[in-house]
This record gives sequence, C-alpha cells and structure tokens, in this order.
Amino acid sequence: MPRPMSRPWVPEHVLVTAAAAEQPHTAEVLRRVEAAGVDDVRLLSGNRLTGLTEGSEREVYARAKKTLALVVAPPSAIKPQPIPPSADWRIDLAKGCPAHCQYCYLAGSLTGPPITRAYANLDDVLAGIGTHAGRGAVTSGTAERGHEGTTYELSCYTDPLGIEHLTGSLAEAVRRVGTGAYGDDVSLRFTTKFDAVDDLLVLPHGRRTRMRVSLNAEEVAGRFEGGTSPVPARIEALRRVALAGYRVGLTIAPVMPVEGWQEQYAALLDAVGTALADVPDLDLTTEVITHRFTPGSREVLLGWYPRTKLEMDESVRTAKRNKFGGTKYVYPRETMTEMRGWFTDALAARLPGAPLLYWT
Ligand code: SF4
Repeated sequence: MPRPMSRPWVPEHVLVTAAAAEQPHTAEVLRRVEAAGVDDVRLLSGNRLTGLTEGSEREVYARAKKTLALVVAPPSAIKPQPIPPSADWRIDLAKGCPAHCQYCYLAGSLTGPPITRAYANLDDVLAGIGTHAGRGAVTSGTAERGHEGTTYELSCYTDPLGIEHLTGSLAEAVRRVGTGAYGDDVSLRFTTKFDAVDDLLVLPHGRRTRMRVSLNAEEVAGRFEGGTSPVPARIEALRRVALAGYRVGLTIAPVMPVEGWQEQYAALLDAVGTALADVPDLDLTTEVITHRFTPGSREVLLGWYPRTKLEMDESVRTAKRNKFGGTKYVYPRETMTEMRGWFTDALAARLPGAPLLYWT
C-alpha cells in the first residue's frame, strides 16, 4: 500500500542576516533551500528583518507564512529554560512555523508577523544541552521517564520536522545526542504535525530522542490544521520512526469536545494502536492537552483567521489565572472532568502500556 505523504513546505522568500551568513551551519541550510527550489534568497547587509509589516493584515500574514529567515539566536534565546510538564528544559532550533493551525499555540507567544526564523548558530543553541545535563528534573511524570535522563523539548516555538528539509538542524541535534556528544544521560523530545521522517530513520539516534506526533479528532484536524500533514500520514510516520528504534509518543492536542468527540477520539486511538501493534520494543507515551486560549492569543488568532469557526467564547469557558497575573480560558470543570475520565480510561483500554504523562 503506498504511504500517505504530504508536500513539504517551500518558502517563497528566504532571508539571511549578515550575522547568520557567517555561521558554519548556514551553508547546509542554503544547500537545502536551493535543492527545494527556492528562487528568492536574499543575503541582507545587516541583521534586522525589515519590510515585514508592509500592507494589510492579510498581506502581512500571507507573506510571513511564505518566508524563512535565517538568523542568529540571541543569548536570551539560547539559554535553556525550564518547561514543565513537557520536559526539563527547552531548546529552540527555530521560532515560528509555516503551518496554518487556527488555534496555533504560538499566537500567544510570538510577536510580530509569523515568519519562521531558523537559528543559524546551531552549535551555540545545542551547547545548552551540555551545560544543563544533569540539572533539574522539573517535569511531572518524572517516575515514568527517569530513564531518559535530562530531557530537552525542541518544539516549544516551532514544529522542527516541518522545516527540517530546509534546515537539517533536527537531524544534527538527534545525531549529536545519539552519539553521546553531550553525555549519556540526556535525551531530546519533539512533537510534530508533519510526516517527513525519511532522513531521521537512518540517524544514529541511540534511542535518545522521543518523537511524538500531535494528533486530533478528525473534525478538529480537518477544520483547523491547514498546511500540516494529514493525520493518517502522521500516524504512519510515527510507526516508521518507532520501527527505526526511536521512542515515540502522542501529543493529543488541543482536545475539543466537538460533536461525537468520544467516537472520534476512540477511532484515533484505535488507528494508533493498529499502526504500532507489531513494533518491537515499543516505548510509547501519551500527553493530552485540552484547548485553551488567552485574551492575547484570541486577538492574534482572530487577526490571522478572521472567519474561523473555532470556539473562543469567554462566556462558555472558565477563567484561570496564573501566578504571573495572566488569564487563560479553559473548558468548565464538568467538561474537563468528563473528558479527563474518558481519556484516562480510553488510553488504558486502547493503548495499554503507554503511560499518560500529563493531562492539562
Ligand atoms: Fe502552530 Fe503547531 Fe500548527 Fe505550526 S503546527 S501552526 S506551531 S499549532
């Protein structure tokens, strides 16, 4: 049976800052960009990205989603940050993503037009893995993953697989960690809505990287996840990396109680169970995140997707305040209790042996 595939992202514009042009990793990115068929590659004379905000909101958004910028990550972006409950520390290979998810969780954290900035100073970015090895087990679910050592999340501000064919940064990180460049007691994690895993299959990963796929009910993925790989293709990609010996996982997010949600999520879990049934030494974990939004992310998302049918109605949500004074809107307690109970039971029944690391 032919594998379900999706077309990789080809940006229309690639911008390279002057500082990025001096980095050794840049030659590799430019080679990949050329191989992808990008015609408009501009080497900038300075380090500022200008002209990104010209035109209407629609034009700014559309241009940004067609632009890859190669920049040097500033020191503040290089220092690993704690990132519970997903992992001990966050490492960013890039900031931004070419997909068009109408609930995009980056909406609340990125500022300015949503271009994708890949970091050219890869050695500096990855050095944080070595400096923080053995420091801080801040994740929840630590008992389940103590054997993974200090964990680093690569997908907080980007979908690293979605741009990997253009950057090669993910493969380099996986290879270095897999061959012990930062010691034996560290591991990487990333989650993705893309399926282009061919290059990962042949890497010396040392079983020190856990690839999770971000999955959702058919209705949610079909309506709200533009520019991503189809869910069956993501599941097939998960199967292939699992067969190549990677640790794997599911990020089921953002869960929404759409019409018939139990049947839809049950079908999703069954599809995963079938795909992974014959994988030897399977190491599968699950994470479940319900949909939420903030006043800021709602405003940004409505600017990006003015005709969205995504429910972001404060009046049907419960406001939760964090310790920094911010507010997020989550589903009401009864809905959360019902969904949590259902997922806990359904995961235990349909994917036994796959620990639920966290529910939020
Ligand atoms: Fe945002 Fe993730 Fe969708 Fe990219 S794949 S648009 S980062 S939610």
